[in-house]
Amino acid sequence: MNPSYFIGNLKMNPVSADAVNRYLEGLREDFSEGLPEGVALLIAAPFVYLDRFAGALPKGAVLAAQDVFWEREGSYTGEISPAMLRDLGVQAVLVGHSERRQYGRETDEEIGRKVAAGLHEGLRPVLCVGETAEEREAGRESDVLGTQIGAALRDVSSANVSKIIVAYEPRWAIGTDRTPSSEEILSAKIVIRRALGDRFDAAIADAVPVLYGGSVKASLLDPVCFEAEMDGVLVGRESLHPHEVGKMVRMLGERNGK
Ligand code: 13P
Repeated sequence: MNPSYFIGNLKMNPVSADAVNRYLEGLREDFSEGLPEGVALLIAAPFVYLDRFAGALPKGAVLAAQDVFWEREGSYTGEISPAMLRDLGVQAVLVGHSERRQYGRETDEEIGRKVAAGLHEGLRPVLCVGETAEEREAGRESDVLGTQIGAALRDVSSANVSKIIVAYEPRWAIGTDRTPSSEEILSAKIVIRRALGDRFDAAIADAVPVLYGGSVKASLLDPVCFEAEMDGVLVGRESLHPHEVGKMVRMLGERNGK
């Protein structure tokens, strides 16, 4: 059985090494008895603190980065290469997060290159997709998801697609207190599966974990994850509280054990 995924995206937090140390201590304390069976915990930390996170996460947790460049080395001022991430002990990377699409003006084509480069270096890409409020109001969410998935996986082989995780994060639900209904999330998952099925064998496409992200908290896990039949969650603000991470991870573990 596939694990349930909890991915904490710390975004541009915390803002000091001391605060990072306190956060890590809190996490280790909360998971002093280990991770529950059947749950994969990933923490996507800011680049400058990855080194501090490596080896200091609770046992079994996976270190992720929040972005990556598509070239391995060279004259790309300010960029971080997949090889550098691997060298630090990073095993996974968020790609195409809506805040990168918005503030970094990332295109679907660039996101595709990042996914391919990450895979090439042995990183597990967490591909983030999702529509804006305007796109949903115009009834275009399925088209948008289909295009984002198609472009991001353009250079991915069948042998590699099982290493990808897809996170459905509608932009209008991120950093707000609005969440889609379980039905809306489940229909997005079906669209994502269909888009994967257009590119790969059904059995391969069905094995790709699909998570939900956007204003997730413990009290919402039922509607946004369990009832929506998602394979886990990608969590922003609430993942800054170690105790909340612990609480949600244990809820996923209990659910997976049933
Ligand atoms: P929030 O949980 O803060 O809404 O952020 C969601 C997100 O963007 C996770 O990647």
